[in-house]
Amino acid sequence: MVDLKSQYEKIKTEIDSSIQEVIHSTQFIKGPQVAAFENQLADYLNVKHAIGCANGTDALQIAMMALGLKPGDEVITANFTFIATAEVIALLGLTPVLVDVDPDTYNIDPEAIRRAITSRTKAIVPVHLFGQCVPMDEIMEIAQQHGLYVIEDNAQAIGSDYHSKDGKIYKSGTIGHIGCTSFFPSKNLGCFGDGGALFTNDDQLAEEIRAVTNHGMKIRYYHDFVGINSRLDTLQAAILKVKLPHLDAYAVARNRAASFYDRAFANHPHMEIPKRFEQSTHVFHQYTLKLKNADRDGLLKFLTTKGVPMMIYYPVPLHQQKAYRNPRYQDGDFPVSEMLSSCVFSLPMHTELDQDQLEYITQSVLEFFKTA
Ligand SMILES: *Cc1c(COP(=O)(O)O)cnc(C)c1O
Repeated sequence: MVDLKSQYEKIKTEIDSSIQEVIHSTQFIKGPQVAAFENQLADYLNVKHAIGCANGTDALQIAMMALGLKPGDEVITANFTFIATAEVIALLGLTPVLVDVDPDTYNIDPEAIRRAITSRTKAIVPVHLFGQCVPMDEIMEIAQQHGLYVIEDNAQAIGSDYHSKDGKIYKSGTIGHIGCTSFFPSKNLGCFGDGGALFTNDDQLAEEIRAVTNHGMKIRYYHDFVGINSRLDTLQAAILKVKLPHLDAYAVARNRAASFYDRAFANHPHMEIPKRFEQSTHVFHQYTLKLKNADRDGLLKFLTTKGVPMMIYYPVPLHQQKAYRNPRYQDGDFPVSEMLSSCVFSLPMHTELDQDQLEYITQSVLEFFKTA
């Protein structure tokens, strides 16, 4: 699905020397590269504060802790996403309130959010799924009307632009109160292990976030509240510092591959290519299609024999996950998520896909429907 080796080869000299610098300094924790990368990231995103942490799941947890969410508070999130989003809500004793998504963009449906709000709702966690933004104008309007926090899960969309109805362009993750991202190796901006970050324009929140990541400590060895230990390693920051300047070019490469797939599969009777949301650019964390009246397991088996990877993101919506079964949700309550889980599939998507590979992949997929 990804080719991290070839991507590394192209920037090997810079990456290796950046890593060597850390090793020679032995400042493995909180080395100067961490602050340097945080500043570089804040500049890129045009946001006041970017704060590193250990991974994207921690980033979401830290955001909810920094906002002071308390057990019993309800947090609304998408039912069709990676589990981390709901997991931290549950771990903190908050109540995950799941809502359905849009059948075209796979992203959270603002009208469904509106219907899910109660007197206990404290926050909304929209997920910019697969690389394009959710309708943030509508979500911020709902949040303002009801006095809710918005935490953007930007793990899959870093670098995408949101064209707001106010005429301005914002980087995804910088519109809500806090944005969260992951530097997991296969993410659009990946490091060589685990990493994550939070962004905010609010000085006070930034201070809370830093304290949460650092054992609830603002003054050394004075602990004001129970925090956690979640840091971005200096080595990872040193790698990310080299990779961030390439992020926009990576998005161009991903879009080139997506356009190739689009041309090959548009108007196919058994496939629906991913729809673009007009207010967002797409950074194609995944290229995810819908299969229509065809055997998805059969396609998966066929592509496996061809040596073409295919993945299903996500095969089970959250309300049907064993750990998240809840009497308030029944099968059939989230028709769009359930429909998507049964028919979506994702093809290889990364920065190094060349013409030959794209031709081989698309030919293999098309061949399945001829033989089936
Ligand atoms: C990857 C991902 C996360 C979690 O990131 P980790 O760094 O793996 O903890 C959270 N949310 C979404 C939508 C993701 O894709």
